[in-house]
Amino acid sequence: MNSFFSRGPKYSEETIKEALNALRDGVILIDKNNKIIWSNENASKWLNLNDPFSQENIRAYFPTSEFDEFLSQSDQNSSLEAISPLNKSIFLSLQIIPLGETEKILVLRDITTPIRLEKVRTDFAANASHELRSPLTVIAGYIELMVEDESIPNNWKKPIEDLAKQSERMKSVLSDLLVLFQLESESRITDEEIVDLQAIVMAVRKDCMLAKKPPKEFKVDFKDSAVILGDEVKTQSIVNNIVENALRYCDKDGEISVNWFIDKAGGHLSIKDNGIGMEEKHLNRITERFYRIDKGRSRKLGGTGLGLAIVKYALQAHEATLEIKSELGIGSEFICHFPVSRIQIEQ
Ligand code: ADP
Repeated sequence: MNSFFSRGPKYSEETIKEALNALRDGVILIDKNNKIIWSNENASKWLNLNDPFSQENIRAYFPTSEFDEFLSQSDQNSSLEAISPLNKSIFLSLQIIPLGETEKILVLRDITTPIRLEKVRTDFAANASHELRSPLTVIAGYIELMVEDESIPNNWKKPIEDLAKQSERMKSVLSDLLVLFQLESESRITDEEIVDLQAIVMAVRKDCMLAKKPPKEFKVDFKDSAVILGDEVKTQSIVNNIVENALRYCDKDGEISVNWFIDKAGGHLSIKDNGIGMEEKHLNRITERFYRIDKGRSRKLGGTGLGLAIVKYALQAHEATLEIKSELGIGSEFICHFPVSRIQIEQ
């Protein structure tokens, strides 16, 4: 057996241990049965191990399916966030490094400070948005009254209409921001509901056909039953945001088609349009907050720049992923891939 540890020491074992103990990171050597061969001081502290040669199974310290999956892969670039088994307020980033043919090194890094800072930042943004909501509702309400007031002199009509448009835009951005903060603060859906995806698509289609500029065609094809286990509001938000974009980014003669099918990998919802399309270079960035290819066009058409970020988080809450295909001048396709665990097969 070509074991790393059977190669024999080149340096004295004590020197190597001393060096590893001096690291800020935690280091754990694991054998092929996931038993702890040795752990440095920081790792022993975070795992509350009394003995560096503990021989215990590392899975006992991180008893989740995500950790099992992470442990079985050998991609050194992937990392997993976990909580210290000793202290729930310590956040760790874990990384696996294969060693020889059978052993592994588990590297643990304390990421409590960056995680806390990120939380402070998002809490601040969420609180600021909440604080802005009430005054904005009052301002928008008065502006609306002024738009309808016949006694307002003519030379004030245009500025008041502009004010009304801008306050509507602020309300949309604020409302999308609040949805996004809410999604970010929850990780997984805990209260699962039975969601009829086809009914959601049909309702969104109805609204879309009543829009000021409806599409020329809106086809819907559900090959299989589309009942999923998830969250109704989040699922509506996914379909709504993608369909709204399909409508927004079609010039004239817009054609939208929605398809659903199930295969071994799960359920797949495709929303396709024949709109302006996008260049390849934008595709992996358009789910970022406020990333817009043409800011002017998006704003003019009522976009907030947050729709696809909301879609991404709402899909993540379902352990689902988003695939985007697009060609400039031809159109775009957004495919939501739901895992098998989310599909409810009707009896
Ligand atoms: P927005 O409110 O600006 O539409 P989104 O987050 O929904 O924000 O989308 C981000 C950007 O992705 C858009 O500004 C647009 O440039 C591009 N985009 C999204 N959907 C489509 C589509 N169906 N066709 C072309 N471009 C799109």
